[in-house]
Amino acid sequence: MKNGAKNDEGSCVKCGTCNTVCPVYLVTGNEIHTPRGKQHLKSGIEKGEVSSHYADIFSKCLLCGACLEACPRNLDTPQLIITVRSQLPGLSGLSFLKYVSRKALVHPSLLSGLTRIGTAANLLLGGWLPQDSGLRLRLQGFEQEAFKLPARGYIEKLKAELPEDKERQESEANSGMSFFTGCLANHLQPEIAESTQLLVAKTTGCKADVPLEQTCCGMAALAAGRIDEARDLARKNIMAFEANDFPILTSCSSCYFQLKSYHELFDDDPEWRERAVRFAERLQEFSTFFLEKFSEKNETLLPADTGPGKKVLYHDPCHLRFKLHITRAPRELINLLPGIELQELPDGPRCCGQGGLFQLAHPDLARQVQDMLMADYAKLSTQTVLTACSGCLLQWQLGLAAEDNGGKAEHLAIFIARLLQ
Ligand code: SF4
Ligand code: SF4
Repeated sequence: MKNGAKNDEGSCVKCGTCNTVCPVYLVTGNEIHTPRGKQHLKSGIEKGEVSSHYADIFSKCLLCGACLEACPRNLDTPQLIITVRSQLPGLSGLSFLKYVSRKALVHPSLLSGLTRIGTAANLLLGGWLPQDSGLRLRLQGFEQEAFKLPARGYIEKLKAELPEDKERQESEANSGMSFFTGCLANHLQPEIAESTQLLVAKTTGCKADVPLEQTCCGMAALAAGRIDEARDLARKNIMAFEANDFPILTSCSSCYFQLKSYHELFDDDPEWRERAVRFAERLQEFSTFFLEKFSEKNETLLPADTGPGKKVLYHDPCHLRFKLHITRAPRELINLLPGIELQELPDGPRCCGQGGLFQLAHPDLARQVQDMLMADYAKLSTQTVLTACSGCLLQWQLGLAAEDNGGKAEHLAIFIARLLQ
């Protein structure tokens, strides 16, 4: 996160720098949707002058962080938006999630999707996904038939195959590394978790321990302004990983950002804040971790270079790009792979339009944001998109499926694991 970012000191000087980078403003062209516009509305909220119209305005944000990165006054508009969303029930009598649900239910394309969702959706939103999984919220806006459910989620499978207690404890003690899977790799695409484990085994010689009590990172809950729920999920995850002090690898960029920010949820709770800080110190971002491991063992692990090969695009998740500034490590990791040529978008990286619940509240706007990305992607000579963020991966997979031109989006872990097999 940008150092010293805040909203309570200094005020917006209305310079408009943020407008030039805001994906929502770039598609609507409406000043009310700009970060500057939201900063302007802040004073009305502080005075309690809030109508339900505010829910709509404050729903039109992807929480991408581009405005925070650009703002010369360090104004943290995404944080302002989360705060306003959390305060909406008290201010306007309407919770943000209720607003989003209403929007989703009156939207024709979502309605038609909902009538066609069939068994897969019933399973996903009914019994398959845990109540506290952020994927529940994210998937409600998608055409659910696009998802094929695995026979069992990754952690469910581990539980079913659990060896005797003593054997398990010994295996945990020997692993030296823990793994936070995130909801997508746990419930919908367990091959991401399996591939990550394969990479861990190849590069460290051990299998990462997967604490079975881990749960959703809480990002979707926070995006919905449900701060208490995000805190509960944070406590559960911190406790789940406290049995040892191993480094904690994550295969999802958004989860990594959320887990890394847990301490911000406990400003008024020194004990949990301290535990969250210790937890954050152990976190390992996927591409940074494997770049280091592969750089050490490159020659012995990777297959020989067979000459000009596959072209790929790496998609920067906004949470890594703007908030953590991790953009080089994934590219350097891909550049280590023999026979792989990395391509870049002509005008640089763009947001995919997923943005937590944004896709659910505003599918048309999300599609317009995604269309700008797809138009740039179409100028490249690659059909393979790699990323390490669950939300971006889902958005790309659905966008490419709709284009039906043979394009494919994959998690970096799956792509690299295939090269090693
Ligand atoms: S960049 Fe910052 S100071 Fe300038 S208009 Fe945007 S929020 Fe205000
Ligand atoms: S976080 Fe992104 S979408 Fe939201 S106001 Fe800032 S630039 Fe716009």
